Amino acid sequence: MESTYGKFLEIWQVFAIVAGGLSFLAAILIYIINKVRLAAISDYKQKYDYLATHETKMLFYSIVAFALSVTLFVNTVYHDTVKLSVVWFFVRMFISLTFGTLIVYISWLLIKYVYPGVLEKKMKHWRYKPRINKKTGNMMKLLSEEEEDVHLDEGMQAEENVFSVDYDVWVDEETGDVKVEKYPGHLMAYQCNSCGFKTMKLVKEEIVITPTENTDGEMIKYYECVYCKAKRSKTVKVARLSQTESHYELPAHLHFKEELKVNMVTIEIHLSNGKTKIYEFGSTTQASDFLKEFKLEEE
Ligand SMILES: [Zn+2]
Repeated sequence: MESTYGKFLEIWQVFAIVAGGLSFLAAILIYIINKVRLAAISDYKQKYDYLATHETKMLFYSIVAFALSVTLFVNTVYHDTVKLSVVWFFVRMFISLTFGTLIVYISWLLIKYVYPGVLEKKMKHWRYKPRINKKTGNMMKLLSEEEEDVHLDEGMQAEENVFSVDYDVWVDEETGDVKVEKYPGHLMAYQCNSCGFKTMKLVKEEIVITPTENTDGEMIKYYECVYCKAKRSKTVKVARLSQTESHYELPAHLHFKEELKVNMVTIEIHLSNGKTKIYEFGSTTQASDFLKEFKLEEE
């Protein structure tokens, strides 16, 4: 004769297998749907935006569903032992919950500290993949960012909105067609020099010299590592305000990013108080200009 506990166990067994199977299916489905949605987007910039807003979330949902399926499956093992006493049911339950929690926790750590670097690589791929001019079919080229082009057509916008934005300007050399793409500066994380993770994020931007219509300005970007809390700052040029409000004007001489051999210049200044200041520049000219102007009193 079967006890109530025995009957409960049989039902539990079926429930755990079905629910576990469903969660496992959900995990795979979420993963695939994410890939299909990304593949369905043809515009590179939109692919980038999709990755920025959905990729991490979808990956995490998929992992949570997977962890749930593992938890449920662990609740079906050692069926005969568990039958012997209700104590074993709770022991198994406890172990399964530990497993599930551990999977979610470790994944969460990886997603928070390691995955951003991987994701950024993917996003960079779409950001810098040569655009095709839809009208002519020509390959377009990306203008170099001699200066962080803070202004383009949005020169007059409120400072705090504009300064966290990066613009990429793609040019069709034959026709002069221009495609301007706007990227949120805050999303980008850089590699931290202290801990090595790609977790250095922009936290604050400060205008030290306000740009006018005739002169360039200067601002300091402050970064902080999400992981180890290391701080650094970077001085960048702010382009003078353009008088044309509505349209981007191509410069007379085009400089393309691919022509530049130097990608970034880093200057590390060690102060006598043991502190280190790190500055990054887009070109050697900018870096040497900075060194000429550098005065410790201003720090
Ligand atoms: Zn760090």
